[in-house]
Amino acid sequence: MADDIPFDKRLELAPDTVREPTPGLRVVMANNPGPFTFKGTMSYILGRGRVAIVDPGPDDPAHTAALLDAVRGETVTHIFVTHTHRDHSPGVPAIKAATGATVYAEGPHRAARPLHIGENNPLDSSGDRDFKPDVALKDGEVVTGDGWTLAAVTTPGHTANHMAYAFKENNTLFAGDHVMGWATSIVAPPDGAMSDYMASLQKLAKRGETIYFPGHGPAIRDASRFVNYYILHRKAREASILHRLAKGETDIPSIVRAIYIGIDPRLTGAAGMSVLAHMEDLVTRGLVETDGSPAIDGLYRLPRG
Ligand SMILES: [Zn+2]
Repeated sequence: MADDIPFDKRLELAPDTVREPTPGLRVVMANNPGPFTFKGTMSYILGRGRVAIVDPGPDDPAHTAALLDAVRGETVTHIFVTHTHRDHSPGVPAIKAATGATVYAEGPHRAARPLHIGENNPLDSSGDRDFKPDVALKDGEVVTGDGWTLAAVTTPGHTANHMAYAFKENNTLFAGDHVMGWATSIVAPPDGAMSDYMASLQKLAKRGETIYFPGHGPAIRDASRFVNYYILHRKAREASILHRLAKGETDIPSIVRAIYIGIDPRLTGAAGMSVLAHMEDLVTRGLVETDGSPAIDGLYRLPRG
């Protein structure tokens, strides 16, 4: 899957140990490997002495202890959260309780659109609905700490409240799960939306950060080129879906089988949700038709004429 993007799956990093990929930035990876998390969630520590933590990670006492250990003798003044999936934000309360830091994020977990009548949210268990930031940031808002400056970059799509953070001093970006170096991001309705996701990619493509530090996997060294690969990949995926519909396929499972060749079987459900996300976008744009609201078990066709 997605062999058009130059993924980097080399990552020699022991969980819950501290590494400093660049001066003034430390990383501690949580021990939560899996098909959606690669080897684990990356928690970042900015600065020295008076520091910020980006994405405290899952509710995992070992990870919380490793983070607190990494900053022993220092003061955590700020906690930033990229989005409210369970592998990123549930570590917040323990870190906040231990440090008294102020929590910044775009906002609480929410879906990208209301549920359709009769629709259940299959993603209910993946969202951290307890999360509430102390400070809700708007796009472009700047937060300054001791030796670092972060600018909020709203990047909805993977989740409605996804926010990346530009680290001004380093010309780098904490990309969360919006752009990752090891795999494509999952865009699954109703929490995610493909039209938002594409718009957020285009927005990042116009920015100048050279390195991305993602929520999972290694740093992305050639960030703007990589974002363009991501955009091309999504456009190719959309073209494949339209091609399968032109060939007479009508349902999402058949399309997934046809275009996600060799996919990890654990990701088939997510692939279906990604195709649904494309269908929602294509139906809105009038390029695909379906009866009623686009649904995972719906039937799809190209418009006549
Ligand atoms: Zn994640």
